[in-house]
Amino acid sequence: MAMTLTEKILARRSGKPAVAPGDNIWVDVDVLMTHDVCGPGTFGIFHQHFGKDAKVWDRSKVVLIPDHYIFTHDAMANRNVEVVRQFAKEQQIEYFYDVGTPRYKGVCHIALPEEGHTRPGEILLGTDSHTCTAGAFGEFATGIGNTDAGFVMGTGKLWLKVPPTMRFLFHGNLPPYLMAKDLILAVIGDIGCDGATYQAMEFDGDGVYALNIEERMTLCNMVIEAGGKNGVIAPDKVTLEYVDARNAGQKPYTVLKSDPDAKFIFEKVYDVTKLEPVVAKPSSPDNRATVSEVRGSKLDRAYIGSCTGGKLTDFRAAASILKDKEVRIDTFIVPATSEIAAGLKTEKIGNETLEEIFTKAGAKIGPPSCAACLGGPSDTFGRLNGPLSCISTTNRNFPGRMGHKDAKVFLASPLTVAASAVTGAIADPRELLA
Ligand code: SF4
Repeated sequence: MAMTLTEKILARRSGKPAVAPGDNIWVDVDVLMTHDVCGPGTFGIFHQHFGKDAKVWDRSKVVLIPDHYIFTHDAMANRNVEVVRQFAKEQQIEYFYDVGTPRYKGVCHIALPEEGHTRPGEILLGTDSHTCTAGAFGEFATGIGNTDAGFVMGTGKLWLKVPPTMRFLFHGNLPPYLMAKDLILAVIGDIGCDGATYQAMEFDGDGVYALNIEERMTLCNMVIEAGGKNGVIAPDKVTLEYVDARNAGQKPYTVLKSDPDAKFIFEKVYDVTKLEPVVAKPSSPDNRATVSEVRGSKLDRAYIGSCTGGKLTDFRAAASILKDKEVRIDTFIVPATSEIAAGLKTEKIGNETLEEIFTKAGAKIGPPSCAACLGGPSDTFGRLNGPLSCISTTNRNFPGRMGHKDAKVFLASPLTVAASAVTGAIADPRELLA
């Protein structure tokens, strides 16, 4: 029976020769990730149902990554990190990236691949909706709630419904003023915030395979903003080189692809050369407008960071615009992980590091974490503590998402955010790119 990539992964991990959309199946989980926000709740459910002395099903498959509310004096946030620390110790968790140690990483969805926890053909679950990011590595990756995660911790299994697959084909060479963020905002604008509810979103086409691995992660990262169950891209040489260089424990993996005659319930084709830079206007990721439609809208702040827009590719793009320029509005730079933060000090454009370019432009650089992407306590770096207007490389712009409930957030690519930081109003990167 012909199957899509998502169906093949789910069939493989359920021990069945084939599955079809709508089937309810038990799957074996390869990696379960949790962080400081959902970890404590998950541990509580795990102990409640499996006993106070219970051990997780496999201490090398539970990955603990504190990343959300890290650099804050908030007592509740600090206590959450301490609960994660205690659990890691009690369970002797092999992969725990603790704050204040050289192992500290930052945002979980970027830390997972960097530390070699993403492999083709596997099932990766996490207590965070943007766990779908890891679909860029040809695996089934999705966010689950604390109750499901508590069950997975005890058993290594989960009961899942096989989603039907939608396919998005991108063709052509991406123009220098566009990034993967423009592509995914275009898709979400086309299908809406509920356009892919409980469906797999597979990305394919030469336009996708021309993207580097970080840009592919941006595509998969935002499928949840369309309601997608998972996003997925079949592995190619680029994927396998990245995975092989980092694979934690050098685990064997399985490369799968959709069959040529697999059934997709929806297909949409994009010619990337015809797309324009886009934003999502306040207050929904599907409130799409082209940058030319909103050009000149006044801003108070620019923010470049998060699992969506805080990777090295994002900062290279932003720096290409900010080099030898000054920002007109408060501009916050937050590398997603410590590896990316180190990259800001070594990657150069001309003879200046990215960090030097940002600092000279007048931007403020914070430590790696989720920071203001999810608002957080009032002392969070970059948080919108007033009714400000902000342009951001993050993934959600619902009221209150980055702090104040009356703040207005525009989502855009790092190129568009950097161009807007220089002009103090929404600007088209085509006007500033050399
Ligand atoms: S960076 Fe933002 S979207 Fe990503 S995991 Fe952190 S809070 Fe969630």
